[in-house]
Amino acid sequence: MTVCRSSGADLEVVLDLGRQPLGNGFRFPEDTSEETFFNLRCGFAEDSCLFQLVEQPPAGEMFHGDYAFKTATSERMVRHFTNLAASLTEKYGLDRGDSFVVEIGSNDGTFLKPLAQQGVRHVGIEPSANVAAMAEEVDVRVLTEFFSPEVAARILASDGNADLIYAANVMCHIDTITGVAEGMASLLSDRGVVVFEDPYLGAVLENNSYDQIYDEHVFLFSALSVRNIFAPFGLELVDAEILPVHGGSMRYTLARHGSREVAVSVANIISRELAMGMHRTNTYQGFAGRVAKSGRRLQEELVRLAANGTDVVGFGATSKSTTVYNYAKVGPELIRAIFDNTPSKQGRVSPGVHIPVFPDTEFTHADADVAFLGAWNHKIEILRLHRAFTERGGRWLTHVPEVKFLNG
Ligand code: SAH
Repeated sequence: MTVCRSSGADLEVVLDLGRQPLGNGFRFPEDTSEETFFNLRCGFAEDSCLFQLVEQPPAGEMFHGDYAFKTATSERMVRHFTNLAASLTEKYGLDRGDSFVVEIGSNDGTFLKPLAQQGVRHVGIEPSANVAAMAEEVDVRVLTEFFSPEVAARILASDGNADLIYAANVMCHIDTITGVAEGMASLLSDRGVVVFEDPYLGAVLENNSYDQIYDEHVFLFSALSVRNIFAPFGLELVDAEILPVHGGSMRYTLARHGSREVAVSVANIISRELAMGMHRTNTYQGFAGRVAKSGRRLQEELVRLAANGTDVVGFGATSKSTTVYNYAKVGPELIRAIFDNTPSKQGRVSPGVHIPVFPDTEFTHADADVAFLGAWNHKIEILRLHRAFTERGGRWLTHVPEVKFLNG
């Protein structure tokens, strides 16, 4: 793909993160021979302002019956989605009896569960069968499919228009973005809203958090690009809100053109994006220079620690950290083990560099000197849970916004 997936304009390649495996491709140690690798390069098109991967592995290789990520592994995210379900219900009167809510990428059902419990008509679209089954266990209705205009047409025929179409951390996964926008526009009721949230490109630039870039994240959105993607389908950006989750996300609200008032935040955020140069290719070329420096610094620090005999482990076997480890060439000789609370990742090795993953409950007894925060976006939750590590002199290392120790 050398053209923008939204506008069709030529893409300028602005960042090259090298040969990378799948971010969530955790394998059993005896089963690493057939790993998928691809070139993780990013492009930008000034006419759409859309930052995107040049190549993305096929969706079926990333989202399947053994999909590793589960929303409910983070208590903070469970609270985030439960509170949001309540506030959207109130704001849009979803409990009035005839409302219909569609969620794309419903995963283990965390967002839809409270709505299902209140009897709100709903359906989740979730292609990864293992997580879809977890949602069904808590009485969430799920279609195990990839969202597309055809799926939208089927839902429209069986259930009618949607009053709310919600999507978290999934719009940025779907390379057929114009098909998604078309499907959403056809499914939405006249006064309905599309609400979606994803990691925010502005936060990635500010935090130098290049680890938000991995196979699944084919796009990193901005208010500028979202406005451009949806305009041809008659949907207008009516609200934009910066969120503190996942290291800096943005929640976008879209409605049929002219059907709802446009919040003042939209103009504010867009003028801030223009001031940051987020519509210019050279901004991303500058970012690429800072990323290269960050990768080099991390590798140097870990090599120095290893030379001193310091015992370094990783905390959080995140898909994000896959990009960091493979880009900075960090293997088990520099990070001995990674600790994580997702059972399906434990007992496996990390993608590409093959660092073994252990249950987070073993971290306390691991006697490590330094822990690299692979899940820096859950820093507060992790540091609170593992105060004992800090109290006995353990040091936390991060690369966001720069390579540094958080303590000691
Ligand atoms: N919404 C959850 C899950 C995000 S992970 C949260 O924010 O925590 C992304 C999810 O989207 C995965 O469960 C993945 O299987 C699903 N997904 C990927 N492509 C999709 C598509 N085309 N249509 C619907 N869901 C998709």
